[in-house]
Amino acid sequence: MRLASVILDIPTQSLDSAYTYVVPDEFVDAEVGCAVLVPFGNRQAIGYIVELSQIDEGDPFAFSALGLDPSKLRSIGRVLSHSYFDELGARCAQYLSEEYIAPLCSCIRLFTPPGGVPRMVHTGTYWRLEEPSIGPVDDRWVRLGPAASGFAPKKTAVKQKAIVDALAAGELRVAELTMELGSISSVLKTLSDKGVIEIESRRRMRGLCEGEAGAAGSTSFVASAKPELTSGQAEALKVIGDAQRRASGEVVLVDGVTGSGKTEVYLQAIEDALARDEGAIVLVPEISLTPQTVARFRGRFGDTVAVMHSRMSQGERYDQWDLIRSGAARVVVGARSALFTPMPRLGLVIIDEEHEGSYKQDSSPRYNARDVAAWMVRERGATLVLGSATPSIETLFNCDKRDDWHRVVLAERANGKPMPEVTVIDMAREFGSGHRSMFSRKLTKALLETIEAGQKAVLMLNQRGFASFLLCRECGFVPECPSCSTSLTYHEKGSTLVCHHCGHREAVPPVCPECGSPYLKKFGAGTQRVEAELAGVLEGTGAHIVRMDADTTSAKGAHQRLLEEFASSGAAVLLGTQMIAKGLDFDDVTLVGVINADTMLKLPDFRSAERTFALIEQVAGRAGRAELPGRVMVQTYWADSCAIRAAATYDRSLFLRDELPKRRLLKYPPYVRMANVLVWGKDERAVEEAARELSREIERTVREQAGDGWSVLPANPCTLTRLRGTYRWHIVVKAPAGDDVSAVLLPLFRKRKASKTVNVAIDVDPHDM
Ligand code: ADP
Ligand code: ZN
Ligand code: ZN
Repeated sequence: MRLASVILDIPTQSLDSAYTYVVPDEFVDAEVGCAVLVPFGNRQAIGYIVELSQIDEGDPFAFSALGLDPSKLRSIGRVLSHSYFDELGARCAQYLSEEYIAPLCSCIRLFTPPGGVPRMVHTGTYWRLEEPSIGPVDDRWVRLGPAASGFAPKKTAVKQKAIVDALAAGELRVAELTMELGSISSVLKTLSDKGVIEIESRRRMRGLCEGEAGAAGSTSFVASAKPELTSGQAEALKVIGDAQRRASGEVVLVDGVTGSGKTEVYLQAIEDALARDEGAIVLVPEISLTPQTVARFRGRFGDTVAVMHSRMSQGERYDQWDLIRSGAARVVVGARSALFTPMPRLGLVIIDEEHEGSYKQDSSPRYNARDVAAWMVRERGATLVLGSATPSIETLFNCDKRDDWHRVVLAERANGKPMPEVTVIDMAREFGSGHRSMFSRKLTKALLETIEAGQKAVLMLNQRGFASFLLCRECGFVPECPSCSTSLTYHEKGSTLVCHHCGHREAVPPVCPECGSPYLKKFGAGTQRVEAELAGVLEGTGAHIVRMDADTTSAKGAHQRLLEEFASSGAAVLLGTQMIAKGLDFDDVTLVGVINADTMLKLPDFRSAERTFALIEQVAGRAGRAELPGRVMVQTYWADSCAIRAAATYDRSLFLRDELPKRRLLKYPPYVRMANVLVWGKDERAVEEAARELSREIERTVREQAGDGWSVLPANPCTLTRLRGTYRWHIVVKAPAGDDVSAVLLPLFRKRKASKTVNVAIDVDPHDM
């Protein structure tokens, strides 16, 4: 008898939702990865097979050995789909669930086709099986058949004639003809019966973003020639090639300055993989997943490249997913979740900008794609390539400590140009000397010079650092959201205050509600206000200003349009948020300005120095990429901070010498592993009580189960104590670096009963603290 372990897709707070069912003999197509319909309690539920096994019914102990009662075993009712994932995928879901302490069914969902799975929906009285809302779409195409040449339609057969005439120029979609001629299905049938036309069904690939050709049936690519490799690139490829040959799941960090040709290394490593008939997954941060980026891969590998990101519609993503599964696409370039696409014979995973926080998912399962990829390549005997100009401290640490992690340094730009010189401008001093503009004197002068020379500048406004809020200059009052403990953002338009967490809006008060002072003034600035001030600075120069932020890029394709607008202008300034820090490659950008380098000014976060360092290095890399030399100006209120000084001199070891001892002393990664347990709910009292209780429970567990060196910090309100009307507390757990945090905490979370009033979530290896 065949038994299947099935993970049920049911809303549940419990972590484990795997149940055993009998697989009736007639379901020969039941495989790991299939969606199935199973009885569950007094209703039907959908689940996914994660394991199949044989059991000898004649053996009286067989069932009890597995802890099963044969009289209670129920059977799978129906197999609903082909297999979405293989056994390793199923194991990966299990791993995710245990490592990140997340419900198994939420982990399994990562592996299913976007929008393409059946669901159970409740009609109010009963549960009904709903077929996937998204699936492949076929187009019917029509062309002239063998009998067309001798065919002469009757005078009255107007539609027949119209169709045959239209097809003389080549094949057409039935839908197009119908649009033109109205209902034609019976005419088409007549014609095709006579052999005058031929009709064929063909898969349609729903279109991608503008500028991205569909993976199948796309036509033109700008083929890119392979350059001669620099010695660094050649070395990187050799290390990657050796790792690929050993096929033991090794990791290679390509630690290369911006412009050192990391992408070329990825391209050639992929080429090697394809030559061995291995597939490749390339992860890129969501915001650098532009048509430009995709074009570089398509330029080399044509339409074997699939694309996957969140700005695509579900239908588009479904089609790409299906291309990958069918083996038609052997390379996928995508955001975080593309790691879970069913790439056959996966040989290579590449993660560009591996230090990026966006590889960490901020909802359950709270996985870090970088860490999951390392697990995945080990299991599959594949190779992981990480690339960055500013690798994360964790990754540098791993390369240092582990034999299976290798690091290759590309110290120079591929075109031999020097890195641009960085000037740090102390804004506190500027302010003290009476210069009150957000553009320092030096930056203003440089901007004007750049524009005068007919060149381009990129200005970055770090929104993480300064929110644009109101501050009473007399008493220090800052207007806050009544339901979230954050300052309200000032919007020029309509002079309103808006909460960016919950959307709360209110009018700007005429005087300070605390002390009545009229000096309630803006502090920091949003992109709109910087744009207005910039327009003043550049008045009369004729310079074009392009603003790129969440507002101006929300429409589909807007991102690309703005970049094209900037590229095609002469003298111009691109003003944007962090999203401009990476990937932009414009030859005539000679000035890069960082308006405010200080990140996370208001939020305490152990990574803020690392982030500041990385951001400045990234953005500096945008300047002087081609013939014209570039310069970089960094404005900051913290000019002597080590992160800023180190970034300005491209001196990572200076930064690390300052940062690592602090991390060690204060017990932060990479010296410890952390878990952040979040407790939240509407009832302040209940949340606080639950948090304190849970903290005691965790402490007890840690004392009984864990080794030395663990600490559980007392329950505390989060930095953002109130968010969308809920109260938030957290408990921080720290463990020695090599310890398995999840294994110790998992049993506690497994047996925790769900509560209606208080929610609990755990974030293992949190990214934001
Ligand atoms: P990175 O990804 O490290 O920032 P890129 O791969 O984008 O660097 O390369 C920067 C520029 O150098 C690109 O325009 C690329 O075409 C070019 N390039 C890459 N490798 C070489 C090489 N070996 N010789 C000449 N130019 C190269
Ligand atoms: Zn005041
Ligand atoms: Zn709010």
